[in-house]
Amino acid sequence: MYSKKYFIGNWKMNGLKKDLVQLKKVDSFLIRNKFLRKSIISIFCLPNTLIDFYRTNLSKEIKIGSQNVSNVNVSFGANTGFVSFRMLKDLKCEYVLIGHSELRSVGDNDKSISNKIKNSKQSKLKIVLCVGDSLKDFKSGTAYKKVTNQILLALKNNKKLLNKIIIAYEPIWSIGSGIIPKTMYLKNFFDKLNIFLIKKFKKQIPIIYGGSVSSKNIKEFKNIKKCNGFLIGGASLKSKNYIDIIKNYYN
Ligand code: PEP
Repeated sequence: MYSKKYFIGNWKMNGLKKDLVQLKKVDSFLIRNKFLRKSIISIFCLPNTLIDFYRTNLSKEIKIGSQNVSNVNVSFGANTGFVSFRMLKDLKCEYVLIGHSELRSVGDNDKSISNKIKNSKQSKLKIVLCVGDSLKDFKSGTAYKKVTNQILLALKNNKKLLNKIIIAYEPIWSIGSGIIPKTMYLKNFFDKLNIFLIKKFKKQIPIIYGGSVSSKNIKEFKNIKKCNGFLIGGASLKSKNYIDIIKNYYN
């Protein structure tokens, strides 16, 4: 199960149409490499402004995701600035990030995150549910409790949707900092989280890691068996960095 690893780029608030050439290079790399096409699922969560242009003009191997979705339980309506699942489906988006810490820090919360997941009934999109501990949680030894609590609050009213869920464990203190947790710590964390998910939800749910993943540190994740892939921010902006991460993981 989950033999394919996720390599999910998150462009955040970056990128103009001209930058999509980076994805074209990733596409060409994957097209040339049959082994990798069988081994990974390559996804890029783009700003919504770029999705349609990419889909129409360039798309081949890469799957596309959005970085957020409305928490309001309608597909269309008087909700200025919101984008619904139905709209993302129209763009042929297949994935969406929900609960990224950068959105939690500006108002997203456990209730809105749970509602966003509930609204996914409007479509078949898969959800990358982002959870993570602060440095304070980590230092006080409460990281695991914080993360499992975030997962419970996001999923307890959405048990029928579990097939759509991928969990991205992203220690907030690791995002963009260049610092990653120690391999043994992460291995134990992933093992425990995997057992927790099976016990609570009677299901295997893929768990990926996010936070300063780069071509330099990717090999450290190879022995973390329960890690089903990666959410990659800064290093996904340039095709070379993203491709080197994949190459170094498999070499
Ligand atoms: C992220 O924002 O999800 C992320 C993992 O960022 P970075 O790789 O830049 O730490």
